[in-house]
Amino acid sequence: MVVGESGLGKSTLINSLFLEDLYKNRKIPEVSDRIQKTTTIEKKTMEIEERGVKLRLTVIDTPGFGDAVNCEDSWKVCTNYIDEQFRQYFTDESGLNRRNIQDNRVHCCLYFVPPWGHSLRQMDLELMKRLHRKVNIVVVIAKADTLTSSEVAKLKKNILNDIRDNDIQMYEFPECDSDEDEEFKQQDRELKASIPFAVVGSNTTLEIAGKKIRGRQYPWGVVDVENPKHSDFIKLRTMLISTHMQDLKDVTEDVHYENFRAQCISQISQ
Ligand code: GDP
Ligand code: MG
Repeated sequence: MVVGESGLGKSTLINSLFLEDLYKNRKIPEVSDRIQKTTTIEKKTMEIEERGVKLRLTVIDTPGFGDAVNCEDSWKVCTNYIDEQFRQYFTDESGLNRRNIQDNRVHCCLYFVPPWGHSLRQMDLELMKRLHRKVNIVVVIAKADTLTSSEVAKLKKNILNDIRDNDIQMYEFPECDSDEDEEFKQQDRELKASIPFAVVGSNTTLEIAGKKIRGRQYPWGVVDVENPKHSDFIKLRTMLISTHMQDLKDVTEDVHYENFRAQCISQISQ
């Protein structure tokens, strides 16, 4: 699920992340920037192939807050959606067809932070507090192409400090197994050092030296979404659908869903 203020590039990023154009079934307008403002929760399921393994991935795009006069309502759309999936799973689990439950629980929430602040805003902290006991939060800095490298580094540091000082529980990347090879360990260290991921999204394919890339063309040059020097996009994609997918699901099952179940059961027994 993607969450954050309206206009931060949430729809664009999920479109870029999973390459296939999620919106291709829509009637496509002439302009190249096809993504329209998201006004309701949109659920898209797709099959993607990662290293020869086919997987079914569902992306939940949310309207984002900031447009409504009352932010409260736009937050509730997200938290209600997450709770609703837990409730459905809980009902299915107590039913007769326990073996064939479709798991629609939200396994990861990408929380978008604007690039133009100094750190997290009060409203970010408040929303994170409503989410952190329900879902794995992975913080991303939106539109990182608008920041210099040192600005990115500083913003990352400030965000991490705010998260720590406000006792917000982000998704915790697990320790790397000691029997993994050195290359994997190095990759894992780099991944952890990049948190919160600074990302860039684009719906435009450009042709650079005969190669097609997803990028953003500026008067002074091109930002290549997949270039690790330009953004943490690839790191985010790899962790989501490859290296950490199973762990995200495990934490959802063992921690967040367990919290929900415990609450349900204590309510029933009252
Ligand atoms: P959403 O409301 O969060 O879903 O944002 P959209 O995906 O609709 O994007 C809002 C605007 O920001 C569009 O004009 C996008 O082209 C632009 N945008 C999206 N991603 C980026 C990015 O990474 N960098 C920059 N500079 N602009 C972006
Ligand atoms: Mg949107």
